[in-house]
Amino acid sequence: MKDCIFCNIDSTRIIAENELCFAIRDAFPVTDRHTLVLPKRHVSDYFDLHQPERNAIEAMLHDQREKILKEDPTVTGFNVGINAGASAGQTVFHVHVHLIPRRDGDVVDPRGGVRGVIPSKQRY
Ligand code: AMP
Ligand code: ZN
Repeated sequence: MKDCIFCNIDSTRIIAENELCFAIRDAFPVTDRHTLVLPKRHVSDYFDLHQPERNAIEAMLHDQREKILKEDPTVTGFNVGINAGASAGQTVFHVHVHLIPRRDGDVVDPRGGVRGVIPSKQRY
């Protein structure tokens, strides 16, 4: 799509690809090696993906996880997340799955993880 930053990403930014999706590093990483996995087709909302695209993204997430773990032994966990819709925080409307490496001690108390989308509800 003409005005989409992810449809127009410079090919040198692509770190991996398969038939239906590709991976890039996030330009404003939450942690080192924060990676985005995206379908090649321009689709805004995760829930509009075709099942083969979901499968391709899933395979790419596994590949990238393996690669990150090999490259960086300090990585001890991951947050995997999708912001679906502006209300949920989506800012770029070409589906992307965030793969965010986590390291022991990177925050004082990581409990609750993605529950932190509503900061007051992170702990339960
Ligand atoms: P979201 O808020 O889930 O739509 O996430 C958009 C993500 O895209 C954010 O984590 C941004 O840091 C990232 N981002 C924005 N522009 C670029 C870009 N040109 N290349 C790579 N990542 C980007
Ligand atoms: Zn796009």
